[in-house]
Amino acid sequence: MKFATKAIHAGQEPDARTGAVNVPVHLSTTFKQDAIGADRGYEYARTNNPSRESLEQTLAALENGRFGASFASGLAATAAVIHLLEPGDDVVSTIDVYGGTYRLFARVFERYGVRLRSFATADAGELLRACAPNTRMIWVESPTNPMLNIIDIARLAEGRAPGCLLVVDNTFASPYFQTPLDLGADLVVHSVTKYIGGHSDVVGGAVVTGDAALAEKIRFHQNAAGGVPSPFDCYLVQRGIKTLAVRMERHAANAVRVAELLAGHPKVERVYFPWLPDHPNHEVARRQMRGPSGMVSLRLRGGRPAVDAFLSKLHLFTLAESLGGVESLVCYPATMTHGSIPEAERERIGITADLVRLSVGIEDADDLCAELAAALG
Ligand code: PLP
Repeated sequence: MKFATKAIHAGQEPDARTGAVNVPVHLSTTFKQDAIGADRGYEYARTNNPSRESLEQTLAALENGRFGASFASGLAATAAVIHLLEPGDDVVSTIDVYGGTYRLFARVFERYGVRLRSFATADAGELLRACAPNTRMIWVESPTNPMLNIIDIARLAEGRAPGCLLVVDNTFASPYFQTPLDLGADLVVHSVTKYIGGHSDVVGGAVVTGDAALAEKIRFHQNAAGGVPSPFDCYLVQRGIKTLAVRMERHAANAVRVAELLAGHPKVERVYFPWLPDHPNHEVARRQMRGPSGMVSLRLRGGRPAVDAFLSKLHLFTLAESLGGVESLVCYPATMTHGSIPEAERERIGITADLVRLSVGIEDADDLCAELAAALG
């Protein structure tokens, strides 16, 4: 089955009892058992419920995995994956990951003996060389947030030592444009709050894997720690997924238009967009992604005052956190999404006072480009 078909049908059979074509929202927290030990596949809604199960099957199908687990947020999904580690384990990553992911590793898990080492590189070879004998996980985002670096996932998969898990946060690409499990990753993490949900109306997370033993551990954590989404949230995410393929096509086409406009503009110092031929990891992007997604970052000439002036003239691009919804958003990473990263570290990543990140929505590209051109002018 092709992606757009899976998005509408995988895990979403019409309801066996009523024929309802949409998966019912099962709000019940508990389920009748016909006799002691004889349940019908569900006991208690934190452990499992039909709405979440259906979504998890859809997510697994979209990522070409076998097992999906959904969570109350992207960070709850991230925490479930970090819980696969033991005290003393080392994690290798890049410095430009989502600020909340960095905070979770550095401020929560480090206290329990899990150490994150972050490197200022997008080069897979460098990351592999940085691995130590106790490195049990390589954690990457690709494209990264907010610099849109691309990391060669297949190279990491081939080069890591046995017993070292490769985890890819696939939030920025979405499974429509990139399927890391096909490239050899062990686990994929999503903030489904972004493209997968797609309408800026639900916070959620997901983990997908093809490995039964890993899935078992993730599922244990999901039930034991309880960071699960509500059945209604599952419904919203699944409803968003139905249009994921068409939305992603439009996000990407609009982002290409926006990136080309910005790349030729005298007020713009630099544009970060993997589909532009001058992007440093353009070749890798073309190899491992089927499209560029809708994220574009740029550096404005004139620093913070220029950014303030630019933002004050935007109306269709709303100044807000988050990304991946149908509406265009603009974000100032230094104080917003990446404000939890210490300043020196931010500078090292490239998150400086002149950096702006755009989440290009699915409005008409002519309107978006006209607004950006006017705001720069
Ligand atoms: N991963 C990436 C790449 C993100 O951008 C975010 C949030 O912005 C997260 C993970 C965390 O997801 P959530 O906000 O759903 O907890």
